[in-house]
Amino acid sequence: MKQVLTFAFMIAFTFTLHASPLHILVDPGHGGSDSGAVRGSLKESVIALKVAKNLAEFLRKDDRFEVTLTRETDRKIPLDQRTQIAKDVKADVLLSIHLNTNNDPRVHGQEFYFQNQLPADEDMLFLASRENDEEDDIHAANEKLSSENDVRVILEDLGRNHRIKSSGDLSKVLFENWAVANGKKVASRSIRQAPFRVVSQVAIPSVLCELGFLSNPAEAAKLNESAYQASLAKSLYDGLVKFKETSDKDPERALHSAP
Ligand SMILES: [Zn+2]
Repeated sequence: MKQVLTFAFMIAFTFTLHASPLHILVDPGHGGSDSGAVRGSLKESVIALKVAKNLAEFLRKDDRFEVTLTRETDRKIPLDQRTQIAKDVKADVLLSIHLNTNNDPRVHGQEFYFQNQLPADEDMLFLASRENDEEDDIHAANEKLSSENDVRVILEDLGRNHRIKSSGDLSKVLFENWAVANGKKVASRSIRQAPFRVVSQVAIPSVLCELGFLSNPAEAAKLNESAYQASLAKSLYDGLVKFKETSDKDPERALHSAP
């Protein structure tokens, strides 16, 4: 009975979210005493905040979206607090905004990171929760894994794979959008997986956007211009619109939280 209810709940939940606004948590990286990358007078924390605020403005004007910023001022927020905000506001998608540096000043362009396939710590948590649930189960002594547990484990697995897939899809659409706007070739090396804590520890599709290199003098100069900051935000916004339209059209891919 519980299984039937779980499935019914998932279906209902998927359809409800299908029509509801997509809640985007925009996370300007660093802040306060943590400036992130610094080149001359340019600070990653400050530019990331400006782009994030521009993006929030685009999203607030569009009723297909809801938006929350992890910070609206130049202040430091620990990574754990950022992931906690994602949970507290029940965000559907996390976009963390950063700027890059490289020892080679010629390196430039954008990179989008989504979470590693299987972050070791998450796997540990996953296994730990299974063990704990079994301990609570009074029938556990006789039945190592009840069919109910099997179903839940499968659903958890689906939820996690779905999240990684959605994150990858979102990275792709964000990058393609930026590449087209800037006349760049779509190179898959600009979309990468990495175990960044902020994108690996939230249970929602999440992407870490590196919007350019402060170590490239020409790109750094552009990144400091408010018109370019707005155009970056517009490109991210357009990507989110495409992502929302794709997920709305295809219920299989519709966003839903892990059960
Ligand atoms: Zn950063």
